[in-house]
Amino acid sequence: MALLLAVLALAGCAQTPQLKQSADGLTVKVLDVGQGDAILIRTAEQNILIDAGDTDEVKKLKAALDQEGIKTVDKLIITHPHRDHLGGSAMVFKNYEVKAVYDNGQLATPKFYRDYLKTIRDRNIPYKALRDGDTLDFGGGAVFTVLSPTEEMIAEGGHMPDGKINLNLNSIVGRLTYGSFAMMFTGDAEKPTEEKLLKRHRGDDLRCQVLKAGHHGSKTSSGARFLQAVQPEIALISCGKGNSYHHPHPSLRRNYEKRHIDFYRTDVNGTITVVSDGAAYRVTPERGEKNSNKEN
Ligand SMILES: [Zn+2]
Repeated sequence: MALLLAVLALAGCAQTPQLKQSADGLTVKVLDVGQGDAILIRTAEQNILIDAGDTDEVKKLKAALDQEGIKTVDKLIITHPHRDHLGGSAMVFKNYEVKAVYDNGQLATPKFYRDYLKTIRDRNIPYKALRDGDTLDFGGGAVFTVLSPTEEMIAEGGHMPDGKINLNLNSIVGRLTYGSFAMMFTGDAEKPTEEKLLKRHRGDDLRCQVLKAGHHGSKTSSGARFLQAVQPEIALISCGKGNSYHHPHPSLRRNYEKRHIDFYRTDVNGTITVVSDGAAYRVTPERGEKNSNKEN
């Protein structure tokens, strides 16, 4: 770590947040909660939960958080108001101290969404709608930079060209950086979101060693141009065992294969853990092997 800090100083990275000396550094766990998304991020100072899984997956989520000894969620980030991402929030509010909530500000009608807003209001929990360009300090030197949505996208309300509403399009997409390690979080963002994002961001703003695959490994996401820009070495797919959507989609798997991107999937590998000291990183599945697409 001392060497890393020295290298950063030599490189003139005066604005790089100071990495806290910590045995754990940064830990990201893509939790195995079934088809929904729930990702726990732990830094030297904070616990952050990105999405809370589905309403019928709360037992798994609670068991995972309790196993980690979580009492406080410093930041709860809801990528978009679909049940498989927001549904478990009531359980989180009930069992853990949630210090701040972030979402994309997109209004929705289901009861679980209205209950979620009511809890935030009733408990006076600090709340903010995130927009492209916002940054969140995750503590310990880890920073989350929001890449999508924009104000205009939210105003459009996720309308597709055919007039249908698709709330996935306005999912919060963000890049977590810790030293020279970076990981992309995508919610259920789909290709139109990726294309818009590529017009606003490029190069080093996007490159990541690890990608949380968009939309549970659906063919609607992880387009070729997006993968080309992010250049991930490993993709992590959050999807349920025997899910009716057949995620991850074969075409996505072919895209990964072509680009030599290894991947893990929660339905096969269980919870997937990424640990970084700000320089190197390693990915460990709860069980099984990774799908290797690297050339030997
Ligand atoms: Zn989803």
